[in-house]
Amino acid sequence: MKNLLLKLHETNFLTKNELLYLLTNIDKECEKELFRLSDLTRQKYYSNKVYFRGLIEFSNYCKNTCKYCGLRSQNKNVERYRLSTQEILNCCDDGYKMGLRTFVLQSGEDAYFTEDMLVVIAKRIKDEFPDVALTYSIGEKSKTCYEKLFNAGADRFLLRHESANRNLYEGLHPNMSFENRLNCLKNLKSIGYQAGSGFIVGLPDQTDEIIAEDLSLLKKLDLQMVGIGPFVPQSDTPLCDCKSGSSNKTLLCLAIVRLLLPKTLIPATTALAVVSKDGWINGVKIAANVIMLNLSPPSAKDKYRIYNGKNSLPDSAKESLNSTIDKLNKEGFVADMSKGNYPDWERNDNYEYDA
Ligand code: SAM
Ligand code: SF4
Repeated sequence: MKNLLLKLHETNFLTKNELLYLLTNIDKECEKELFRLSDLTRQKYYSNKVYFRGLIEFSNYCKNTCKYCGLRSQNKNVERYRLSTQEILNCCDDGYKMGLRTFVLQSGEDAYFTEDMLVVIAKRIKDEFPDVALTYSIGEKSKTCYEKLFNAGADRFLLRHESANRNLYEGLHPNMSFENRLNCLKNLKSIGYQAGSGFIVGLPDQTDEIIAEDLSLLKKLDLQMVGIGPFVPQSDTPLCDCKSGSSNKTLLCLAIVRLLLPKTLIPATTALAVVSKDGWINGVKIAANVIMLNLSPPSAKDKYRIYNGKNSLPDSAKESLNSTIDKLNKEGFVADMSKGNYPDWERNDNYEYDA
C-alpha cells in the first residue's frame, strides 16, 4: 500500500486495478498518509488559497428524470421557477459587490432558455462585469450551442459524468446515453472551455470497482475542474429511501483525484457539508480549493431542492461568506476572490467554429 501511495504521489497515475486495491484495502494509517500527500500537492500549486465562486441557480425546470435528483421532471412536489435576465444580473451585482469574480450559472435542462437567450445572458454578464469568469452548468447541449456560448464569453463549463459505469449511468438516467455525456465533455474540452466533470459517491449499487472506473475516467479526461460529492437522498425521488454516501469515502476520492490531477480545481461541495458537519472544511484541509457561495434569491434557493438538507445551510450569501472566511482563516487558509483560473490558463479566442 505504501508503495502504491508513493507511486501515486510521484507519477500522478495508478491503473484501474491499483485504484481498486487502494480503495478497498486502505487502512487508517495509510489514509492519513494519502491525505498528507494530497494536502502537500494542493499546497504546491495553490499554497493556502481557497477560491470563492458565486453560484446562481437560475431555473429549477428540468426535462430529465435523473433518479437521484429532486428537480427531475416527474417530481410534482416542486414549485418551479425561472429567474429573468435582470434577476440573474442582480445576483451577479450582489456577488460582484462582495468581491466575487466568478459566477456559476446553474439550472436543470430547461428548454425555455434557448441558445439565443443563454448567449444574451452571457454577453450581458460580460458587458456589465468584464473582469469576471463565467461558468455554465446547464447540462447536455449540442456542440454548436457550446460554441456559441463560448463565443459569447462563457469561460468554463461543469458537466459531471455522474458515473463512469454505463449500466449504472443508464439505469439512473432514463432516456440519456453515456456516450452522449462523454461526447459533450469531449466537445467542451476541444472548444477551449475550462471544463469540469465528476461523480456522485454512494449511489445505490455503486461498488469500489465502479469508483475506480470513475477515477480512471477523470484521469483520462484530464479536465481543469473536478466536482465529487456524496449522494444525498431527496424525499420526492425514486431513491428517497436509500442511504447517503459516506463523507469519508468522498474525502478519499477527493484526495486521490488531487494526486491524479494535481492542478485541478476541486470544490468542497455543499453535499459534503450536508452529510457531515465538518465535511466541507475537511474537504479543504485534504484536497479541495474552491468554495461555491449561493447567490440565488432566497425564494429560489428554497425551491432548488436537488437533495434533502440543502436549504438548512447558512442563508444570506454575505453571512455565509463571512462565516466561511472565518472558519478558513482559523485553519490557516486565505480566501481568494479573484477569477481563479486553472494555473497558467489562457483563453483561446481564435477557436475555429464549425459552420
Ligand atoms: N442539470 C445540470 C446537470 O445535471 O449537469 C446541472 C444541475 S444538477 C442539479 C448539478 C449536480 O447535482 C449534478 O451533476 C448531480 O451530480 C448533483 N446532484 C443531483 N442530485 C443529487 C443528489 N441527490 N445527491 C448528490 N448530488 C446530486
Ligand atoms: Fe435535471 Fe441535472 Fe437534476 Fe438531472 S441532475 S434531473 S439533469 S437538474
